[in-house]
This record gives sequence, C-alpha cells and structure tokens, in this order.
Amino acid sequence: MPPETASDGSLDDIRAEDSNAIWRMFREYGRDKLLVFGVGGVASVLSRSMELVPAYILAVAIDSLFFDERAFDLWGLPEGWLPADPADQLLLALGILALSYVLEAVLSWVNDWCWNYFAQHFQHEVRVDTYDTMQRRGMGFFDDKQTGEVMSVLNNDVNQLESFLTNSFNQGIRIVVRVGGMGAVMLLINWRLGIIPTLVIPVLAYASYLFVTIIHPKYQDVRSAVGQLNSRLENNIGGLMVVKAYNREAFETDRVEDSSRDYLDANWNAITTRIKFFPTIQLVTSAGYVATFLIGGWWVMFGPPHPFFQGTLTAGTLVMFLSYTRRFIYPMRNFGQILNDYQYAEAAGERIVGLLDSEPAITADEDAVVLKDVDGRVEYRDVEFGYEAADESETVLRDVSFTAEPGEYVGLVGPTGAGKSTLMKLLMRMYDVDDGSIRIDGHDIRRVDPQSLRQSISYVSQEPYLFYGTVRDNIAYGLEDVDDRDIEDAAQVAGAHEFIAELPEGYDTMVGERGVKLSGGQRQRVSIARAILEDPDVLILDEATSHVDNETEAVIQNSLEDLIADRTTFAIAHRLSTVRDADEILVLDEGELVESGTHEALLELDGLYATLWRVQIGELDDLPDEFLERSSDLPSRDLD
Ligand code: ATP
Repeated sequence: MPPETASDGSLDDIRAEDSNAIWRMFREYGRDKLLVFGVGGVASVLSRSMELVPAYILAVAIDSLFFDERAFDLWGLPEGWLPADPADQLLLALGILALSYVLEAVLSWVNDWCWNYFAQHFQHEVRVDTYDTMQRRGMGFFDDKQTGEVMSVLNNDVNQLESFLTNSFNQGIRIVVRVGGMGAVMLLINWRLGIIPTLVIPVLAYASYLFVTIIHPKYQDVRSAVGQLNSRLENNIGGLMVVKAYNREAFETDRVEDSSRDYLDANWNAITTRIKFFPTIQLVTSAGYVATFLIGGWWVMFGPPHPFFQGTLTAGTLVMFLSYTRRFIYPMRNFGQILNDYQYAEAAGERIVGLLDSEPAITADEDAVVLKDVDGRVEYRDVEFGYEAADESETVLRDVSFTAEPGEYVGLVGPTGAGKSTLMKLLMRMYDVDDGSIRIDGHDIRRVDPQSLRQSISYVSQEPYLFYGTVRDNIAYGLEDVDDRDIEDAAQVAGAHEFIAELPEGYDTMVGERGVKLSGGQRQRVSIARAILEDPDVLILDEATSHVDNETEAVIQNSLEDLIADRTTFAIAHRLSTVRDADEILVLDEGELVESGTHEALLELDGLYATLWRVQIGELDDLPDEFLERSSDLPSRDLD
C-alpha cells in the first residue's frame, strides 16, 4: 500500500489482533438467542439425516425386492409391522421415502427460519452497538480517522457478517452434520471400506491450515483497502464543489483510480491464493471417491482386494455406500468456500471488535457529579493542551487561567489559530486538558458526568450542521414533546422566523444533508434557535453570526440580549463589534491569554486588541509587520 493511503486515517491501529473476533461476537450477541440457534441446529441435523433415506430405500429395493438377495427389512421398524406381500413391501418402502421428503422440506424451513432470524438480529445488534461505541469516543479518536473508514466498518464490515452468518455459517454447520452423519453411517455399514473416504479428512485439514495461514493477512489487507477507498470516495463527494470549481475532475479520478487499484491489487492477491485452494480441495475429495469406487467395485466383482477387507459386499450395499460417499465427500468441496468466507468475515470482525473494544476516551466516573441547577461559574486554571494528532511538541494552549462569573458575557478574540475554539471544546470535554483544570460551579469537569455537563452547555458553531429532516426537527433536535410555539419563539429570537415562514412548507420544509437547501447565514440562525430552545446554563457562540450580514447580525444581537443576560455566555468573534459590549474580553495569541478586560480598558492598554480594533474600524490600513510575519508562520491546516 502506498504511504499516502497507509497513514490516511487508517483504522488498522484498532484492529483486534490475537482474538477470534467472530467467536467473541458470537458469545456476546448470540447468547440470548441460543434457543432459536439450537432449534435451528436440531432441525438442520434432522433434515440432513432425512437425506440418508433415499439411498437406503434404493439399496433395500435392489437387494430385497428386485434381486431377492436378502430378506425384506427396514431399519427401525419391528418385524411384525412388515407386510409379507412384495407389492405392499414396495409401497411401504416408497411411502417412507415420500414421508422423508416431506419431513426434509419442513425441517429445512424450520432451520432456515431460525438461522436467518439469528443472523439478522445478531447483525442488527452488532451494528447498533458498534455505532453507539464509536459515537461515544472522544473527538481525539476522529481527528486522525477518516469518516469513510469508520463508515466502512459500520457498513461493509458489518454486512460482511451477514453473508457469513446467513449463508456460510449455515452451510458450514450442514457440512459438519452431513459429513459426521454420513461418515458414521458408512463406518456402521462397512467400517473397513468406510476408512477409505474418511482418509480425505486429514489431508483436507492440512490443506485448510495452510490456506488459512496464507489467506488471513491477505484478507486483512483487503478490508483495509475497502476502508481507504471508501474514505477517498466520501471525501471527494463531500468536496465535489471544490473539485468542480478548480477543474480537478481528472486529478480526483486519478486519486480514486489509485485507491481502487490498491483495492484491486489486495483483492487479486487474495483471489490468486483462493482459486488455487478450491481445485486442490476438489481434487483431494474426488480422489477419495474414486479410491472408494475402485476398492468397492473390485470387492463386489472379485472379492476382497486385500486381507484387510473381509466378507462379501453386495452391489446394493456398494450403491448405497457410494451414494453416501458422494454425500460425505461432496460437501467437503464447499468446505473451502466456507473457510474462505470465514476468513473474510474474521478480517471484518477484527475491525468491528477493535472498534467495540476501544475504550471511550471521555468517560464518567462512577461517583461523577451530576450537574443540576447550574449557576454558570466557569473557571480555567493553568490550562495546558495539545492535540494528540498534532506534533507532540505543539502545545495549543499554554497556562490559560481566567474566571467567568455566572451570567457574564465573555468575548474571546485573537488571530486565527490562536486557540479560541479549542478553549471552548475543552469546556465541553470534547478533549481533556493535559494539565491544569476547568471548573464549572467549582466542580472539576473531569469529575462531572459528561452528559449532564453537555446538557448545561449549548454550542453554536461557525459551520452549523443540519440533519436531514424538517426545520422544526432541526430546531428541536433530539428534544421530545416540544411545543410548536416554543420552537417558533426560539426562531423569532434567533432572527430565523421570517425566512422559515417563507420556505415552501414553513417549519415542515425538509432541509437536506448538511442543510444544503439553506444558506450559511440561515443555517446559523436555525442553529442559534436550537441553542435558544435548549435554554442552557452556559452558551458558547463560536463565530455564530459570521455568515450573516451586518444588519441581520444587529437584529440577532438585539434579540440575543435577553438570552445572554441570565446565563454565562462565551462568544468567539473575529468581528470585534460583536463582543464590544462584553463584560470581559479575553485576547488569545498563540495559545496564551495575553490581555483581558472590557473593550474600553483594552483600547486603553493599546496592545493586540487595540491594534485589531483599529484595523477593523479602518484607522489602520494594515496590520503591523511583526503581526503579518507571525500569521504567515501559522500552520496551514484547516481543521474547523
Ligand atoms: P479560528 O479563529 O481560525 O477559528 P481558533 O483561534 O479558534 O482559530 P483553534 O481552532 O482553536 O483556533 O486552533 C488552534 C490550533 O490548534 C491551530 O494551530 C490548529 O491548527 C490546531 N488544531 C485545531 N483543531 C485541531 C485538531 N482537531 N487536531 C489537531 N490540531 C488542531
């Protein structure tokens, strides 16, 4: 795999090694469905055993009815029940044959029902659990993972389980039953001849061992390549506007071709191994059949071919024996396919189990404080933080300390990349601080139940996300039993009501993926309405009005005044007029809190804030040189 894709958000680091993933999942998700699984298993055994009947009836017909070589006799039936008349004997034998077919069909249905039920519910639970675990991971987990790759586990890998559980698993158990049943019957009929076809088993076992050892790593590569390809496709479709705007269709096609070729290569590598294995298995099993035919045929025609084989063998018994041998040996040919499917599902299962086992980074202590009636006193004490994904030496926040009293309106300003958004992400515990602490109402947030913490905070981001659904659903996002009036009131305050009323179906208008049918400013206003409805104790506005024009911003600011008045509010702003009235403005620069105070006090201080302000109101044509130099040193990644 080329280096670019190998490090490109791969999930390889969480793959569960040294564990039998399918078995692990079976124990966890199959336990409460054991009854249905067991009934399916019994039905499978019984329906397969019905397959023994036709060949047996044929042997009885040849030996007792057509050639009269031995007395008429049927296994399991007392002698007194057997008719004396040959015509009745034939009818009884065929009646049993017909009954066996009916029973086989009914049992087969029971078996299919049970095992499909088992497989579908098993897969459903794995999918939901994997999603739930994934979603509870700290944001750090997603920083170095591609969405497409995670989707690939949730979708492709989980679906891989389906085909294994519904088809191969079912077939595998049938094979075990058939081979075990037929093998036992053959050994019972004539164990000396029965040994010949059973010799196939150890040879097959060795070939399978070799196959598994070689194919397993190849299938791991295939699963990774699927994930990488998925990431590439997801990335490109998400950024289609940019692709088109820059005429980069050919460039992107090349990149997709590269990813697709990696997938092709990984697959081809596995296929070449697989297609060698299947014919080998067929050859071994066919050799077993030919050997049995040769020895048995010789025995019938000329007597035992070797002193080891003793007694006589009738043609009827040989026909039955060969029929059982076929049924014993032929399923083994499918064994290769099943083993192959198992290996494929195992490679997928390792990724699922890896994701399931990965501990959520942000956890709640058992004795965590559940926040109720929050006053909203927020305190940062000597906070240090750096993103794990970034260079370890790169500390994003350094020694940040401040206190926001309940109900205060705090502005956060500073050059791009200074760490303003990061500071707020820490408050919501998207990440944990490396050093120092953040307290809310005096409680260290690491000791607070994360759910209750986030319940008391609302966050309006620069790029609000709208889920596929109606505008109403998006404002009331996840809240139950919300009054329509409350939703509209919230929209009024957020300055969103007017444009919503003009939408084709008002509040019931569907907004597409990422709210593409709404403009950036409209999305921001819907998102503000969402925060207002939530009625949080602490409100974070991360450039919440950056996409709206000055007039609309003034309207929103006006309406927000009531909202802001009785809760602690943090507002990150590049447009300094937004935070001009803040109780306190914190100025961040390169991860450090360099100035703080009211607008007037900061202007008087004549530092960074005053410079930024003068540039914005047009008093300064340009930023001072040292400032520009520093900006050009900023890392170029855009991670918001
Ligand atoms: P802006 O005003 O442009 O939104 P900001 O002051 O909010 O910037 P942050 O988004 O907090 O800045 O970013 C601070 C630093 O952390 C930047 O150098 C950025 O590259 C880095 N950074 C942000 N998010 C991540 C992340 N998820 N992983 C690694 N580094 C990150």
